[in-house]
Amino acid sequence: MVKLDLHIHTSYSDGVFSPRELLELLQQYSYDLISITDHDTIEGCIQGMKLAAHYDVRILPGVEVSSLCWGRDVHILGYGFDIKNKGFKSFLHSIEKGRLQRAKKIVKLLAKEGKSLDFRDVINLTGKLNMVGRPHIARALIDAGHCRDTKDVFDNYIGEGQSCYVAKPAPSSEKVIEAIKKAGGVSVLAHPYIYRDDDMVQYLIDIGIQGLEVFYSRHTNEETARYKKLADDNGLLKTGGSDFHGHGSDLNFFGFFSAPPSVAEDLSEYIEKCGI
Ligand code: AMP
Ligand code: ZN
Ligand code: FE
Ligand code: FE
Repeated sequence: MVKLDLHIHTSYSDGVFSPRELLELLQQYSYDLISITDHDTIEGCIQGMKLAAHYDVRILPGVEVSSLCWGRDVHILGYGFDIKNKGFKSFLHSIEKGRLQRAKKIVKLLAKEGKSLDFRDVINLTGKLNMVGRPHIARALIDAGHCRDTKDVFDNYIGEGQSCYVAKPAPSSEKVIEAIKKAGGVSVLAHPYIYRDDDMVQYLIDIGIQGLEVFYSRHTNEETARYKKLADDNGLLKTGGSDFHGHGSDLNFFGFFSAPPSVAEDLSEYIEKCGI
């Protein structure tokens, strides 16, 4: 029985653990296949792949790319691309650069709401690449005593539609799907349930997304069944993952999640191509 988790973050984006720490943690759970899917960067994944042989786990090249669709922040997973593709790396780098300016804008808006932060405190919470995201801002707000918890931060300040929300400057979903394809990879819509808009999911299918993350750790059984049917009806790949970041409650389910072995079969062409 193949055990797999194809959606994991590291400290190269907004996860807590470095690739090495992640692999150490994973050892006790005997995974056969994982993917490190940081937001808009493949540096953590490359780091993990270099270490994989020592940990007896296969790592499929992965990334979770930010895109814009119908004015919303839509996450597209890419798998099995060429990790040396320079064009793809610079495409990702251009998204990454926009994050810093956006984080500064969010911090300014928060100050207007009486929630002042020192921007350096936010940056100090980021990992190696200073890849700043809303989870870092949330952490800084909680640490400063401005907010109770992450839910409070997102629901009242920085979540979509809230007063301090700033959209990430990101390419269109079409562009992201195309860039992943050009690098030899397959594009998959991450956590489809999160958008609460299946018309948009259908639109993403119409513009050429190749798979859906059907087996997502936070999907209800009904959601899993619905997206499985949608994928089958449209001849799409079905993938799955935990979306582990390493914060608090994440550790309760990490290690126990596995997508069904059929996922490895669905992706076999890409797994073989990457020689893992
Ligand atoms: P960013 O890429 O900076 O927009 O941040 C996106 C990340 O923020 C997601 O991957 C989640 O980890 C986290 N996030 C988004 N919405 C929420 C929410 N409502 N509650 C908690 N975390 C969230
Ligand atoms: Zn994240
Ligand atoms: Fe996501
Ligand atoms: Fe994610």
